[in-house]
Amino acid sequence: MKVPFYRHSLDAGSATLVADVIESGFLTSGKRCARVEEQLRAFFGVSHAKLTSSWTQGAVATLLALGIGPGDEVIVPAMTFVATANVVKQVGARPVFVDVDPLTLLIDIALVKAAVTPRTKAVIPVHLYGQLVDIAALRAALRPDIRIIEDAAHCFEGRRGGRRPGTGSDAAIFSFYATKNVTCGEGGAVITNDAELAASLNETVLHGMSATAAQRFSGGRYQHWDVARLGTKANLPDILAVLLEGQIETVDDRLERREALSRRYEDALADTPISFPVMELGSASARHLFPIHVPDGRRDWVMRTLNDQGIGATVNYRAVTELSLYRNDALVSQGSFPVSREWGEGTLSLPLFPTLQEEEQDYVLNVLRYQVLPFLDSSATDERGVAAL
Ligand SMILES: *Cc1c(COP(=O)(O)O)cnc(C)c1O
Repeated sequence: MKVPFYRHSLDAGSATLVADVIESGFLTSGKRCARVEEQLRAFFGVSHAKLTSSWTQGAVATLLALGIGPGDEVIVPAMTFVATANVVKQVGARPVFVDVDPLTLLIDIALVKAAVTPRTKAVIPVHLYGQLVDIAALRAALRPDIRIIEDAAHCFEGRRGGRRPGTGSDAAIFSFYATKNVTCGEGGAVITNDAELAASLNETVLHGMSATAAQRFSGGRYQHWDVARLGTKANLPDILAVLLEGQIETVDDRLERREALSRRYEDALADTPISFPVMELGSASARHLFPIHVPDGRRDWVMRTLNDQGIGATVNYRAVTELSLYRNDALVSQGSFPVSREWGEGTLSLPLFPTLQEEEQDYVLNVLRYQVLPFLDSSATDERGVAAL
């Protein structure tokens, strides 16, 4: 049997929607984007939403809009996808890494507090694997002038204490990349309740220009535009935006499926040397990925065993602080991120997507049960396992 790592849920109906945009003659950001932005404002209960070409470009545009740049520090977790740190470097600021909690793998708020300096301008907490960081607790731990920008690339539909991303922070940024829970191939969005940030963002997503393509030709007459600040090119075209509307309407239905499949993995792997992130009470994860941790340096062997049996498995993630670009940075190498390192050296992600069939999942579990677990030393102490007790 072959079990892919991910299978998207777009269908022939999506092709019709794209064809409609092509026929309309207007391909870039216009009415279709505006409709999805309206939908995002309603879904998250926020006053502003901007579709972007990716999480990465949305984050660069947000940092530029907040005036964050050379001389500034931005605190990020060491356990995340590299983009979280790269965007800080891209605007000329310095990413300051902190370690994560050993049970949830979410940024450790006490360590964030300890890492704050007079140069700290922002923190980018990551809702890793779909579970939300406690934004209220983070806010309470920080100076009021420090911005909180949520990396919600894994967490469109997750909640914490009933609250969705974008509440209690300055902005939340989503990714609609090919394997994310809501996708249009490549895309993203920034949401905020800050009117000033939203106004700046309208410019920084489009070179810093004071008028969008739609506005420049509104009323059938060309309008002049100015550039007063530096921006990037981060807008999403209508031709991709049309793929999002239907997915956002039904995202909560697919979450039930993700949750059921995740629980099946958790039940089957309980009381084995394999561990997985702990879900906090009152938290409803978006269940973007199902990462596991294999003890004793056996991760790469388990990956190969799964791959050889036709199972798609990937690594999300090795610690950013272990990647050459960052590890070779003198300021980074002085730090210590033992939890991120240990998790990153032992983790791999199993297939998880709404159309994963139970027979497919059973096949994955049987390969683990009969070809992996008998060869893992069950008496070996997985440091995470011990911590979990
Ligand atoms: C995917 C991802 C990103 C980057 O998203 P893009 O849309 O590909 O730019 C950022 N942060 C995390 C945690 C991600 O998983």
